[in-house]
Amino acid sequence: MIEDIDRDVFVRIQTDLLVVGDSIMTNRHHASNGNYEDDDPQNQIGGIIPAFPLSGWLRHGMERVVHEYDGTVCHPGEANANFMKEDIYERDLKENYHEKGACTDNPKEDDGCVVFDLFGGFGNQPGKVMRRPIKFNPVRSTVDYTRGQAEGHYRRLNRNVVSRNREDNREPLRNVEVDAVANLDGCWHLSFREVKPEFIGLLAEGIDFLDGHKTDFMHQLGGARNFGAGIVDCHLINPLYEECELKRVFDRGKGNTNKMAEKDDQWTEEYRPAIVETLEERIEEGP
Ligand SMILES: [Zn+2]
Repeated sequence: MIEDIDRDVFVRIQTDLLVVGDSIMTNRHHASNGNYEDDDPQNQIGGIIPAFPLSGWLRHGMERVVHEYDGTVCHPGEANANFMKEDIYERDLKENYHEKGACTDNPKEDDGCVVFDLFGGFGNQPGKVMRRPIKFNPVRSTVDYTRGQAEGHYRRLNRNVVSRNREDNREPLRNVEVDAVANLDGCWHLSFREVKPEFIGLLAEGIDFLDGHKTDFMHQLGGARNFGAGIVDCHLINPLYEECELKRVFDRGKGNTNKMAEKDDQWTEEYRPAIVETLEERIEEGP
């Protein structure tokens, strides 16, 4: 059964506004040819959303799923780090976390907890899921969803912080420029270095958890969350789909084929329950 699932899987990500601070990389410099204007609606600026904020967001969702099955996972911080808030770290360890890497004596031979297995840890131990950046572009026809790309519209937001003192007549005190992507819709490409059923199970459950908690401050993605940014609709695209079926998901002119509907039923009724059961067993075994 697990051998029917490809090592490359895709998560659909849709959000009205995403702010990842200054870490969005744009192609505006070469696209602008020297006359770039931030607010020109004709700008066709594309760029890259790095995997770091996406990875943290996903990991947090997955950690919560393991907690709900009464398991513990590696704390994301290094055990020997000089935490600014030692008491918070200690509290986390009492609540569903263990020290990073405490779940394995020899990471070369032993898999540790499922989060350690997926995300890797200290030393040269790579995680078994590779999280890629999302390349975005405002021109829908050029977006290749099968390569983990998305339609998205780069915007630079300006915020003026003004004086509250009446005499100052709302004089600006400072100006903040924020890079943002609006109306993002596309695929996040994840590759498993090794496909284990519990990995796919945790991914499916984690993505559902994040979708169900999208307006919780803790589970929004990126910055400016107080302002409604990073509320993400997400779902795992059926891993049984072929490439042409994946493309069809994003084609507004075409509906799902019968074959796709059949695969959806197979996924929900057979595959998913079986892999989630494997996940539960692995968590039950303990780290
Ligand atoms: Zn662990």
